Amino acid sequence: MPIKNLVTIRFPIVKPVLPNIDRYQRFIESAFERCWLTNNGPLLQELELRLKEYLELDNLLLVANGTLALQVAYKSLCTEGDVATSPFSFAATASSLAWQNHTPVFCDVDENTFNVSPEYLLEATKKSGADISTFVGVHVFGNASDVREMDHFAKQHSLKVIYDGAHAFGVKRGGKSALSYGDAATLSLHATKIFHCVEGGAITFRDREALARAKQMINFGFDAEGRPENVGINAKMSEMHAAMGLALFDDIDKIIEHRVSCVQAYKHYLDGKVRFQEWDQNCSENGAYMPVVFDSERQLLDVMGFLIEKGVQTRRYFYPSLSEVPVYKGLGNTPNSNELSRKILCLPLYFDLKLEEVQEICQLVIESLGFEQ
Ligand SMILES: *Cc1c(COP(=O)(O)O)cnc(C)c1O
Repeated sequence: MPIKNLVTIRFPIVKPVLPNIDRYQRFIESAFERCWLTNNGPLLQELELRLKEYLELDNLLLVANGTLALQVAYKSLCTEGDVATSPFSFAATASSLAWQNHTPVFCDVDENTFNVSPEYLLEATKKSGADISTFVGVHVFGNASDVREMDHFAKQHSLKVIYDGAHAFGVKRGGKSALSYGDAATLSLHATKIFHCVEGGAITFRDREALARAKQMINFGFDAEGRPENVGINAKMSEMHAAMGLALFDDIDKIIEHRVSCVQAYKHYLDGKVRFQEWDQNCSENGAYMPVVFDSERQLLDVMGFLIEKGVQTRRYFYPSLSEVPVYKGLGNTPNSNELSRKILCLPLYFDLKLEEVQEICQLVIESLGFEQ
């Protein structure tokens, strides 16, 4: 088959950040010397400790990935019945619920913050006639808006609250970790996220008891004597994965700082040309994603097509709204989420991206929108 017009990708949408290879190798060598490759090894313990300190979260548990983090959080908090959640998220938010026989009930999102707000949660709990006992919120693109109001609302309505904080690594709200809200919050430490272990995840719990249950669950439900006391699963993080996290650890601040400068540069150059997510004033930024909202889907498709011709990869994220995916159809009436999903595009953002390159990408966006330069 002839290869036609293959465009070289100059700017990928994401690019995993890699540590200094010698640093990584030293951690791997230490695991080789001990011949201790997984099962709560010293590298995992060190990473867990460092993350607890860095994120200021006492009840943090490392797991194999961000999806298992959600599933173990649900199990450990004994969630039941239908679960209210956001349709404007990555597939894992809803599928982790459905996987455990919870019916996701989609609440609409605020068109500015892109998060479910208390009013939409109330609407969903009232309308569906569903028996909702839990809310799974998403700090979408790292924005932890409304968490205080949500926690308050949940208390009033006796709801358990779990946050999918996959995007919110390092985000602070009012001086404390955004992940400290809710009964539990999860992180993804996947290669494409800000800070990663190739594959990995974490859960943080409000209560120590929930943490203790989760600790046992991720190791087959074994008790201290190695007997299967409760039902469990294997969600352990290996030493090889922890090594990646440790090798990257000292770069975290530098990574976040640079990504935030890229976001600021994007916003500077594209100001007035596209719409941005409204960030909660009380939240710090972490530069996790660079979403922009166009006037119409037509405009989005034109820009996307123009950019790829120039070697700029973009991604429709999140599209479609999970409430419009056939397997979840009819599980919520979410016009804002549906509309947002059609008009939102994420632009390239990764640690290697240079500020001049951001400017170049913005010029291409502006050119394709037909604005005068
Ligand atoms: C990445 C992501 C996940 C899944 O994390 P994995 O580590 O890839 O399993 C879940 N939720 C959201 C919002 C994500 O972006």
